[in-house]
Amino acid sequence: MTRVAYVNGRYLPHHAAAVHIEDRGYQFADGVYEVVAVQGGRLVDGDGHLDRLDRSLGELRIAPPMTRRSLEAVMNEVIRRNRIDRGSIYLQMTRAVAARDHPFPRRGETQVVMTAKRVPPPSPSVADDGVKVITIPDIRWERCDIKTVALLANVLAKQQAREAGAYEAFLVDADGAVTEGSSTNAWIITKDGTVVTRPASNAILDGITRRRVIQLARAAGFKVEERSFTVGELKAAREVFLTSTTSYVTPVSQVDDTVIGNGKPGSLSLDLRARYIAFMERHAAA
Ligand code: PMP
Repeated sequence: MTRVAYVNGRYLPHHAAAVHIEDRGYQFADGVYEVVAVQGGRLVDGDGHLDRLDRSLGELRIAPPMTRRSLEAVMNEVIRRNRIDRGSIYLQMTRAVAARDHPFPRRGETQVVMTAKRVPPPSPSVADDGVKVITIPDIRWERCDIKTVALLANVLAKQQAREAGAYEAFLVDADGAVTEGSSTNAWIITKDGTVVTRPASNAILDGITRRRVIQLARAAGFKVEERSFTVGELKAAREVFLTSTTSYVTPVSQVDDTVIGNGKPGSLSLDLRARYIAFMERHAAA
């Protein structure tokens, strides 16, 4: 089956889908994006993602290219044409195509690109073994709350993790507190069973999975605190996990050289993972 991409109003074969060399996303990373999970052919937490997209566009003063309804219609069409049951959709909006010059161009329309892919069910080994993370300094800018395509620091962090044999890099601010992962939110569970994650601010991306897991954890009776935690607390935690649209809830069994708990995913993290997967499946069936 040919994969289909959406590029500014046209549905094109994936291999032939291209943008102009003076797209400001290409030259300045002047754009925003979203990744939304698809389950049962439907968007998971679509409203949360599209609300965050509106906010990102607003913060950067990029004009929304179409109404929410039209955008949803295009997203559903991309899912349909690619026959995605379980997978994800990537959506990118950049300011315009214009002669290269730093200020916003006077003319030019917001450019829209979408791709979708199938994703196999989560591998059981993640839940069985957990993943390793490393900690490194957070060298990003001060607007990490905006989901921009300017991901160079995140790319370097993820590469460093891979070269260290790790799944993710947790980023650490100047005060020694963890901000988030290079493409995930970071969590600990303290010795008394409190679930802790950094509060939403300009220092992190307020993950849609993060918000959903806070809600599911509270509904299940967990105590949830939104506060900063240090690398020391991270390494001494009873359990550690990370969240994102594509990682769901993933238990962490090692941070740098420190083994967390008994080196196996913690029972509370696995419980939250199961609750998140059940939420996705309910959503698909609804
Ligand atoms: N932080 C960063 C830096 C990310 O790139 C992502 C994933 N896009 C997340 C957190 C998790 O966000 P979400 O749960 O919305 O996927």
